[in-house]
Amino acid sequence: MVQSTHTPVREQDAPASGPPAMVTFRNVWKSFGAIKVLRGIDLTIERGQVVCVIGASGSGKSTMLRCVNGLEEATDGVIEVDGELIGVRLRGGRRHELSPREAAAQRGHIGMVFQQFNLFPNRTALENVMEGPVVVAGLPRDQARRRAEELLTRVGLADRAGMYPRQLSGGQQQRVAIARALAMEPKLMLFDEPTSALDPELVGEVLGVMKELAEAGMTMLVVTHEMAFAREVADRVAFVDAGRIVEYATPAEVFGNPTHPRTREFLARVQ
Ligand code: ADP
Ligand code: MG
Repeated sequence: MVQSTHTPVREQDAPASGPPAMVTFRNVWKSFGAIKVLRGIDLTIERGQVVCVIGASGSGKSTMLRCVNGLEEATDGVIEVDGELIGVRLRGGRRHELSPREAAAQRGHIGMVFQQFNLFPNRTALENVMEGPVVVAGLPRDQARRRAEELLTRVGLADRAGMYPRQLSGGQQQRVAIARALAMEPKLMLFDEPTSALDPELVGEVLGVMKELAEAGMTMLVVTHEMAFAREVADRVAFVDAGRIVEYATPAEVFGNPTHPRTREFLARVQ
């Protein structure tokens, strides 16, 4: 496709009709100094799809996610979420950064769950889940409380609402973190190795919550080393190697018949 630098990408590439994809990466590059961490990522995630990203440590998986919610800005290329450019505005072919306020508003629709749960240690589970809706979205406290109670019930922690993070297991803390992200009613959920910090016996309860979320229709981009989860829940699996998606297919294809030698090597090591 010939791209004029003077035409906003959004207008040029928008489909003729129908809602936009939930996430679109278009030739996304990201460098830190001289290091090229992402080297031309193209990826489309449709509404309700679950895409699992697999790949070796250092291949750029976290950076991919961080670019989606504006924690990092792509060096080149663009990312759209629900038809809206992330972090930048293109005007007259030039990139303009969004103001911190605009960027924060954008992030509000994108939930993120990290390897480290990042809960507020001095707040209860319930208060952790209420925080975003009250402080960021300005929801009245009683409404935020009701929503938080529902979400804690949904992740199986109704009876832990009054506990502090230190009183909860890692698996429970991560489920609180998922409830906290859901409290902002995101249209997209990003997970960055959400079970990697957990003791093996606690991994299942977190993956179970994620699976239910997927079944409920949430669009999810999940970086994971849990191949069984990817195999079972993902609509598509992307294998990232040195900042590029070298394989992108259904789990059955990626795990059953990987075409790229790097994918085969990786799977031989982790499976
Ligand atoms: P992964 O999540 O696949 O392990 P990352 O996206 O975290 O990979 O990192 C990819 C590469 O980018 C690594 O070499 C890492 O050291 C580098 N990197 C990530 N973030 C930064 C940063 N803020 N500054 C400099 N280098 C970074
Ligand atoms: Mg990472």
